[in-house]
Amino acid sequence: MTKIGLEIHCQLTKLESKLFCSCKADYRGFEPNTNICPVCVGLPGSLPRLNKKAIEKATVIAMALNCQTPPKIAFFRKNYFYPDLPKNFQITQLNIYGPTSIGQEGKISVEGKEIRIRRIQLEEDPGRLIYEGSSERTQITLVDYNRAGTPLVEIVTEPDFENPKQVRLFLNILSDLLENLGVSDPSLEGAMRADANVSIEGGSKVEIKNINSFYDLEKALQFELTRQQSLAERKIEIIQETRHWDDRRKITISARSKEGEEDYRYFLEGDIPWVMIAPQVVSRLKKDMPESISSKRERYIKNFDIPTQVADVLSSDKFYSDLFEQAHSEKNAKEVANLITTDLMGFVDTKEKRKESKLNAKHLSDLANSIIENKITRNSSKTVLQTIVKTGKSVPQIISELDLGHVSDEKEITMVIDEVIKEESKAVDEAKQKPETINYLVGKVMKKTKGKADATLTLELLKKRLNC
Ligand SMILES: [Zn+2]
Repeated sequence: MTKIGLEIHCQLTKLESKLFCSCKADYRGFEPNTNICPVCVGLPGSLPRLNKKAIEKATVIAMALNCQTPPKIAFFRKNYFYPDLPKNFQITQLNIYGPTSIGQEGKISVEGKEIRIRRIQLEEDPGRLIYEGSSERTQITLVDYNRAGTPLVEIVTEPDFENPKQVRLFLNILSDLLENLGVSDPSLEGAMRADANVSIEGGSKVEIKNINSFYDLEKALQFELTRQQSLAERKIEIIQETRHWDDRRKITISARSKEGEEDYRYFLEGDIPWVMIAPQVVSRLKKDMPESISSKRERYIKNFDIPTQVADVLSSDKFYSDLFEQAHSEKNAKEVANLITTDLMGFVDTKEKRKESKLNAKHLSDLANSIIENKITRNSSKTVLQTIVKTGKSVPQIISELDLGHVSDEKEITMVIDEVIKEESKAVDEAKQKPETINYLVGKVMKKTKGKADATLTLELLKKRLNC
């Protein structure tokens, strides 16, 4: 049986400062080695000061993943030498003296399959190594410590995944969840990284590291499963090791034999005392937690009669569900949801476009109301929406400038009907025998008015006119 487990590292990108010092948590955009201080580069004599907000955010993640949160937590030193780790140890968490990591024994459901979360720990991110050319052949490696000390939450799952597709679905759910909690922006480069361990029946566990995207992770897992199955068929032993994903050749390559946890010589971090998390703090955090994606989804369906599929898409996207919350009223909720999911998401589909878009909640609400009040047809609303996104002009202004106003004036429509009857005499005769032909004539009227005519009124007038 295939068993896949994950270790996911998520940066708490919404925090102001690093985990143990006041350098910026958002290290992106700095010149190399300028977002550093004696604490995060581990100069002798410097002492860490724990970021309280980081503990709170990590606790919120633990609760959202249905974990137990212990009353007191401890930090440990994980000792190893690597150039991106300036102190030669990483401050992290471990459950040696009972459960002292920020969260344990959680679960999350992926299409009905329960994935257990073994542990969540709060730790510091190392710096970054930058290679000139490929990492295997490079002569030069540069190191940038701007990232060192950034707050990171590591989520360790049990090996509950049965296939790579489940892994991808889980990561999408997790990514939406973190974004919805307002603790992280998973779309930032390096903000969410996953390593995997994978084994097949009778084989040892192989760890895959160095994976840049969720897409690559799925590919790497597929490759690794095929490789292991092929070894097993030839009765070759699958050894326990760490393998790196080679993004260029799309294969995993052996990196080093895996250290056991005992090789890290963990010991309690003496510079940081145990931290008590009072029950009042936990209840406050729980109370202040944003509404979960599943509860939003249920509410959209129940309160506004929004179709399940639309509610699914809307609730799992924080940017758009926030916009929906601001824009909707009892009366226009369904139409606002419709505008967002069928039109807006289609052409404002990247982070950059979201940033550039000039649309606000009032625009959306006005547009939905205009459709409901028959001031504009659903068809023309697409053009209005696109113009708002580009220009930020108001809905009434765009309708008048582009002459998109709904034609519901009887006289005006009757004039167009007269023209159509003249031009389509054959269809007019036919309509008297076959009533469904009348829809063809409605279509002709709509075409002549560029989709602006009120379809219901047009049909009514045509029927009256043709006595059918
Ligand atoms: Zn610092």
